[in-house]
Amino acid sequence: MKSIRMVEASKPLELQEVPIPDIGEQDILVRVRAAGICHSDAHYRAGRSAMGMIPITLGHEVAGIVERVGAQVADIKAGDRVCLHYNISCGNCYCCNIGHEQFCETVKMIGHHIDGGYAEYIAVPALNAIPLPDEIPFEQGATLMCASATAFHALSKGRVKAGETVAVFGVGGLGLSAIQLAKALGTVEVYAVDIQQDKLELASEYNAIAINASRVDAVEEIRKLTKGHGVNVALEMIGLRKTMEQAIDSVGNLGRAVMVGLNQQPISINTYMQVLGKEAEIIGSNDHLLQELPILVDLARRKILDTSRVVSQVIPLDADRINKRLDELELFTSDVRAVIVP
Ligand SMILES: [Zn+2]
Ligand SMILES: [Zn+2]
Repeated sequence: MKSIRMVEASKPLELQEVPIPDIGEQDILVRVRAAGICHSDAHYRAGRSAMGMIPITLGHEVAGIVERVGAQVADIKAGDRVCLHYNISCGNCYCCNIGHEQFCETVKMIGHHIDGGYAEYIAVPALNAIPLPDEIPFEQGATLMCASATAFHALSKGRVKAGETVAVFGVGGLGLSAIQLAKALGTVEVYAVDIQQDKLELASEYNAIAINASRVDAVEEIRKLTKGHGVNVALEMIGLRKTMEQAIDSVGNLGRAVMVGLNQQPISINTYMQVLGKEAEIIGSNDHLLQELPILVDLARRKILDTSRVVSQVIPLDADRINKRLDELELFTSDVRAVIVP
């Protein structure tokens, strides 16, 4: 089969002919119908993240049609439409047992530690397949498996509930999903903070209150709009020191500031003013869980989560086109999503 593989760090991906993967008794073989090109893939290609093996086929946002199933797979059959949870976990270690399999001691991410979806076929454990309803196109199903899922998990970590207010810092793919899902959870106001007007307009279309941080002080504006209280929950989706500090600053008494964006730099916190004095919490959110994905897919099927505007470009399984797209992702933080359709 054709696969587009990383053969060396910091080099363009290459087309390679490789055997169609074998499957074990509890695995399925999926014919890939859509594989999202994610910002993480640009990091992987550039060698900024340790890979499980090289050469490796990238691609962790995958949807397709089941081609074959292993002897012990009972609930999935050939011909089923599925999208794939990207973390493969053991099911037996401490974190797997307490339902936090993203910290499995032997977790393997498809397209990062083992071969992913930039290929004609992919093999995964049957457990990793989530049924994809006919109403959701493969391209949208694939992208649900990354940014939207991570936003959904972050709202759960922030324990967002009906009647609360939420501030979302960063209106990219994560932020737009978070805004819609926060609304679906019954929050009364969602404030969207960004510096790009076009993104803020999109946030407004999903009924968020837009705050343009290039024109006003985002924290002051949130305080003003919440009559001095601050929000119940702030979600930081960018990974910048400044917006992380703003997110922490924008929550009120008993507020929860959830850190989702990646940032290796230290941030500064006044523990009395910002944390213990108001019993606020700073919460880390990492990846998402298998158990969250069927709910997310159902929300998309019911159009409570609108995924129709996520995918803006479809490209073939072609090394030049994929490399060009990854080059673009290296140059600017475009949220235009490209999806490979082999
Ligand atoms: Zn991704
Ligand atoms: Zn485990």
